[in-house]
Amino acid sequence: MAVVGIDFGSLHSLIGVARHRGIDIITNEVSNRTTPSLVAFGPKQRAIGESAKTQETSNFRNTIGSLKRLVGRQLNDPEIQQIEKKFINATLVDVNGTIGAEVTYLGEKHTFSATQLVAMYLAKLRDIAAAELKTGVQDVVIAVPGWFTDIQRRAVLDAASIAGLTTLRLINDTTAVALGYGITKSDLPEPENPRHVAFVDIGHSSMSVAIVAFSKGQLTVLSTAYDRNLGGRDIDYALVEHFSKEFKGKYKIDVMSNPKAVFRLTAGCEKLKKVLSANTEAPMNVESIMVDVDATSKLTREELETLISDVLDRIAGPLERALADSQLTLDQIDNVELIGGTTRIPAVRTRIQATYPGKPLSTTLNQDEAIARGATFSCAQLSPVFRVRDFSIHDITHYPIKVQWEPTPTDPDDDTELLVFPKGNGIPSTKVLSFYRKEPFNIEAVYAEPALLPGSVSPWVGKFTAKDVPADPKGDATLVKLKTRLNLHGVLSFETAYVEEIEEREEPAPMDVDPPAEGAAPPKKKKIVRKKEIPFVASTSSLDKATLEALREQENQMFSADKLVMDTEDRKNALEEYVYDTRGKLDERYASYATASEKEKLLVALQEAEDWLYTEEGEDTVKSAYVSRLDALKVLGDPIAFRYRETDERKRAAVQLRETL
Ligand code: ATP
Ligand code: MG
Repeated sequence: MAVVGIDFGSLHSLIGVARHRGIDIITNEVSNRTTPSLVAFGPKQRAIGESAKTQETSNFRNTIGSLKRLVGRQLNDPEIQQIEKKFINATLVDVNGTIGAEVTYLGEKHTFSATQLVAMYLAKLRDIAAAELKTGVQDVVIAVPGWFTDIQRRAVLDAASIAGLTTLRLINDTTAVALGYGITKSDLPEPENPRHVAFVDIGHSSMSVAIVAFSKGQLTVLSTAYDRNLGGRDIDYALVEHFSKEFKGKYKIDVMSNPKAVFRLTAGCEKLKKVLSANTEAPMNVESIMVDVDATSKLTREELETLISDVLDRIAGPLERALADSQLTLDQIDNVELIGGTTRIPAVRTRIQATYPGKPLSTTLNQDEAIARGATFSCAQLSPVFRVRDFSIHDITHYPIKVQWEPTPTDPDDDTELLVFPKGNGIPSTKVLSFYRKEPFNIEAVYAEPALLPGSVSPWVGKFTAKDVPADPKGDATLVKLKTRLNLHGVLSFETAYVEEIEEREEPAPMDVDPPAEGAAPPKKKKIVRKKEIPFVASTSSLDKATLEALREQENQMFSADKLVMDTEDRKNALEEYVYDTRGKLDERYASYATASEKEKLLVALQEAEDWLYTEEGEDTVKSAYVSRLDALKVLGDPIAFRYRETDERKRAAVQLRETL
């Protein structure tokens, strides 16, 4: 069984696998360690990851990125409309109350929910891992931002399930990093005197800070703080605005009015930005950006820093909040670990340093791969296949959760809500809530501070309905206990509901003793508490079983269709290759192994096959047509190839024999 960890990034993702030697970040089909987080749709097939990136410029309207930014969100969310739309070229639509995209696929309009798009992408990552490991992939740990809410987390879990994956844990990005950091250190202090590390991750779209205490065998997340909308893409966008203004004057072109030009300029700006991390000046070139203009310019590092000053100014916020919430003083922080591509920018580092003065900024972890590594360690911990060093993780929730209910007729003035998991509560964590009720009742779990949530993500978490409350023998309200759990994924679940039946039984008197003397203690009574589960219905934002099953089926069909297209292409290539290869060989190595008539016949057949490949039919037909053409050619060619090989082998054996003598 494979052990796989995924860093699901907004720009690209990484996959880690556990092997006996340790954890490796694996490469994809074109030998890259990162895989673009993109899904695209074409006239014949989908393209996911690298192949989506390759065709992005020519098919940008049907290419969808920012998958992680969309999942679990709604179309009318102001953050989607005002922020995400700037970075997405595909048409966003509503799909059953959640966000999705409308694309042209197989020549028709189709809509897919963000959950489905993420499922397609995760299925691709699954296949990359399976190809590397040469085994099926089932269990995964997926890293998500700590600011993901219950709804977003459940959407990712649904997506993984549609892709046929079992998510052992959704782990918070920075917690994964902290795990990778701690589990590999052999010099961690005793718990009385922990080491405090601030992890700072600035990626393509968001910034996370976690302050973590490490001691032997464990990590404890003390605080977390985020800016959900601070990352490399904001810097790219500032550059795009700058250059499009410049080009308007210089070339009289309006880049912003042309999505393709914006797209090309963005790619140029990202490149320029990276060059400026290592150089003080960089050139900017975008060939035929639009109306045949080759746009050129340049920028200095200083100019960049001025252009992005408002982004830089926001870096201090999360750092300050995390420090305040950790209840530590800056003195107590031992060091700062940087993660994520955007922390490579010198000005970003300067800002981090200025907020945490005197603290060493280190990149002892591989800043691009630390999340995937940590997620893989987590998967190894949870999987029965690997034995890893014991290392406990005490993670915390970022948003407080409360439960609320309607007032009961008997106690109308009673409280109608209870804060169950305050901000900073441990994950996982179980709490038993008590309710006195005579009738069936509902309990709703909601985020207690909706203002903290991303955009207009609903604070609603789940609803519990007790269908049948057993009557109390004395006619009082029955005490119903409800076990709620903030589980390993950081989502809330209603585990069980029960009533306790207390039975008092007399202890049987010990045998062989005299009858109790006058005035002796009465026989002891023993209380037996029996839990009786009561039926309940829980509703959450997760997709129901039937929907999941249908989506899984749909995904499998698209997967098979893509596979057929690829296999067909593969067989077509094989036919083409056979034609050219055999024709060449007939003049060379096969020359003395084929009779003139054999050769003649085969050449004619090869020519026919070649001609057919260029007809409309041969250009694009079914797999079996290519297979049968190739088989027919092989009937003629194989005997010749066989004779050649046999003689060739005999010759080689003779040479070997001579060498060994
Ligand atoms: P997120 O964590 O926000 O979902 P991600 O994990 O996909 O995003 P990362 O891989 O951490 O993002 O970082 C990618 C970002 O870092 C991109 O914006 C990229 O342009 C930027 N980046 C990478 N290398 C450099 C560099 N040398 N200089 C400046 N920026 C860089
Ligand atoms: Mg990231």
